[in-house]
Amino acid sequence: MSPNKEECKCPLCDGPAQAVPLTGLAARRIYCGKCTTYEISEGLEGILADNPEAKGRARYLSDAAKRPMAGGEGLKLTEDNFVGIAATEEALQAGE
Ligand SMILES: [Zn+2]
Repeated sequence: MSPNKEECKCPLCDGPAQAVPLTGLAARRIYCGKCTTYEISEGLEGILADNPEAKGRARYLSDAAKRPMAGGEGLKLTEDNFVGIAATEEALQAGE
């Protein structure tokens, strides 16, 4: 159990969540009851907070985070990869 868990708002779904700062990574690991566990960079959190178009993709990022990952690691979201991850998830859902 991590000693540094703090209450926060999930950056993806705005629901209640807990966050742990990832030392040296400028990122946080988020524990959300809805989106499961994932990592998000500070840069992307800022983008989601300020950019409505990016925030519109957050539901796809949430769904992507819920998919089981190889190795049991959570999804790692950054400002550099979120557009591609959201687009992949949107395409997967369109094909389902
Ligand atoms: Zn969430």
